[in-house]
Amino acid sequence: MPPKVPLIQGPTPLHRLDHLSRELGIDLWIKRDDLTGFGLGGNKGRKLEYLMADALAQEAEVVVSCGSTQSNFVRQLGAACSVFGMKCAAAVMEIPRSDYNPLPVGPGLHGVGGNVLIDEMLGAELRRFPNGTWDELYAEMEAVACEYEAAGKKVYRCPIGGSTPLGAYAFVQAGREIMLQSDPFDWIVTASSSGSTHTGLQACFKGTSTKVLGMASDPEPDLVDDYADLSAQLDPLLEEPANLRPEDFLLNLDFVGEGYGVPSPAGNAAILRMARTEGIFLDPIYSGKAFAGLLSLAEVGELKGRVLFWHTGGIPTLFAME
Ligand SMILES: *Cc1c(COP(=O)(O)O)cnc(C)c1O
Repeated sequence: MPPKVPLIQGPTPLHRLDHLSRELGIDLWIKRDDLTGFGLGGNKGRKLEYLMADALAQEAEVVVSCGSTQSNFVRQLGAACSVFGMKCAAAVMEIPRSDYNPLPVGPGLHGVGGNVLIDEMLGAELRRFPNGTWDELYAEMEAVACEYEAAGKKVYRCPIGGSTPLGAYAFVQAGREIMLQSDPFDWIVTASSSGSTHTGLQACFKGTSTKVLGMASDPEPDLVDDYADLSAQLDPLLEEPANLRPEDFLLNLDFVGEGYGVPSPAGNAAILRMARTEGIFLDPIYSGKAFAGLLSLAEVGELKGRVLFWHTGGIPTLFAME
């Protein structure tokens, strides 16, 4: 078992959504990873318990990562670095809106407020870049890492979203947490992006009656190839390798809307429906879109029985919307 450091308050709550269950005619439950209880919550806290243990073992002084300006991962990473006295530095880009390079999409997220405010409070360093490709952002992240190394610092590189084999391992454990909390579900629906959440859950529930359905936040169909690669790197950490192939991942791309980081009308409507029936808040980039997908598939009868919605967090971006 890889070492971990305690950061979150777990097990996170699991409860039924009575009003929506009645409205949709399914048995709908929610896993409250918005309430992980660390760094304002969210799914990244689970991954960081393993990633920070690794950074500590490597005696890192600076943790370097990347993401969007409003990254939930960078916020939770910044909080974790504060706990262990490490510096957090991240190359971030304005998605989808840029003060340098406005895109013909929107409304989007402001590059101020929300997670950026929290990052500033934590003392995390954001190196801001205009919207570009992910490869360009990785190159900027590497440049930041090299800069710290040139200054004599021990750097730990943390890939986008914390999606390393350790990040995925955290979600194998999260799946086991659910198995102990509840009778089996027919479906687990989660937002999916950098992929360690979906990959870990899929590895956990492989060969069971539970189907894991990822709702993509990025419009890229070949993400499932990346997930399969991540799973192959995860396998050596497992007692029994999952041997997942790309076709083992159920990834629905229909609810991304205009693109990554652009709130969608259906996602925003789903946020309001959840707030106004259950008093629970979703985010505009991941969980709102994923829940829009769940509502739509439940309404046409594709999702039935016992359905679990995995709330992955992201609430601070509600305070960064235009
Ligand atoms: C990062 C994130 C996701 C996606 O999780 P991955 O493991 O990167 O696929 C979903 N929802 C929220 C709120 C997130 O911050």
